[in-house]
Amino acid sequence: MILLVAHFPSLYPDELLYSGIARYHQMSGNTSQKQTVKELFGDRLVCATVDLPSHLRYLSERLGSVFKVNDLIMKHTLYPYYRAFIPQVKARKIYELMSEGASQGEVHALLGIPASLIKLPSYLKYCRVCYEEDFSTYYEPYWHRSHQVPGVCICPIHKEALIESTVSYTTREKKFEFTSLVSLEKDTAINLCVQPDFLNQYAMVAERSYELLQSVNLDTIYSSISKTDLHEKEYLTGLGRIRFLKLIQDFNAYYSQEFLKHLQCAVDDQCETWLHKMIRGNDLIFHPLRHILLADFMGKNLILGSTTGIEEMEMNQGKWQENNRHERTSARRSRTPFHDWKKRDMVTLTEVREVTKRIKSQKLKPQRISLATVSKNLNKTKVPFVLEKCLHKLPKTKRFLEKEIETTEQFQIRRLELAAARIAKEETKIEGWRLLKAAGLNSPLRESVVEKFKNLILY
Ligand SMILES: [Zn+2]
Repeated sequence: MILLVAHFPSLYPDELLYSGIARYHQMSGNTSQKQTVKELFGDRLVCATVDLPSHLRYLSERLGSVFKVNDLIMKHTLYPYYRAFIPQVKARKIYELMSEGASQGEVHALLGIPASLIKLPSYLKYCRVCYEEDFSTYYEPYWHRSHQVPGVCICPIHKEALIESTVSYTTREKKFEFTSLVSLEKDTAINLCVQPDFLNQYAMVAERSYELLQSVNLDTIYSSISKTDLHEKEYLTGLGRIRFLKLIQDFNAYYSQEFLKHLQCAVDDQCETWLHKMIRGNDLIFHPLRHILLADFMGKNLILGSTTGIEEMEMNQGKWQENNRHERTSARRSRTPFHDWKKRDMVTLTEVREVTKRIKSQKLKPQRISLATVSKNLNKTKVPFVLEKCLHKLPKTKRFLEKEIETTEQFQIRRLELAAARIAKEETKIEGWRLLKAAGLNSPLRESVVEKFKNLILY
């Protein structure tokens, strides 16, 4: 068996495995996509699945196990998003199918995706700012998985409306085609229509979906609405009945109708809807998007954000019935979340320092030190929240980052210095064109960068 490890590209933070395969195809020089699939998966019938691909153990072996199956699944597919709200047995079954191989559509069917009213997006999406940042950091753009989550219309990091590409999300038509973002003709893409009035609501969905995707080390995320929650919000009558009319009215006032309709989550107070079913807490599986909407409306967290919370979360897992049984305990838990931000600031600072040091030590393929890069590389067990969102509560970390974050110019200067040091090891004279090439820079450059460039070639 030929090991492809030397040829397969490293996967970037938040990159879809689909995207890595597309980049591999481009670099391989293969004329047909089927050839690429054959190289990576052997004779298996593997389709170009965007969200929940399978046969990953085989791929991992072909790549000399440099990419562990668990990393591929947890960091480069949408599995962490979907597994958050399903019973553990089912989650394990899906994980197994993704690892060992599944017939086409099997994973999706198990999750009830084809039957769901919430349809998968039609096309792959990307963020204009991520595109540019990735280009300057990695010298190429790539498909982010957080942009491909159903209901996500803006970038969770930059809060920009995502751009819909012409690359199909489902494998119905082009079963074996992996298309890279760089090969996309930008002019053909269109902006997604996100109404400015609902920007905050779309941002909430994007951020919470991102949190779910990032929750690599958490076994269990569970947001269920207990009777205690309903009681606290005055949605229970004295006899313990649910006051649906008030609840539905409040829900519809909290979100706008258009927004809910766009997400295929509209709620009608005349008939039994998904919200009725979710509140009643029967055994049905609900789409994560609906959990997100309900949790935000009820003012609940999806992820109990703390390292000590992980154990609690494991204990907290269960269905609504169990939750009812333990309602006193869970009520106490949800009222006293771990929110010692002073302590968090210290832990985060250590982590951020570590990540910054690591980024700086990458001499061959330098990355710009940006808030997004640092955040993406943090150990999520130690920093189990979105750094960008919580920076105002972390003064020490914030001060440190303010000093460390590089502007494009500063990053270009650092690249010049690194390239010059590399060339100086081999040659006595640093030639201008060679230095620019080694640093991956093109003119025209900003004044301060030109200044540095001149200094370096003089030397
Ligand atoms: Zn972005």
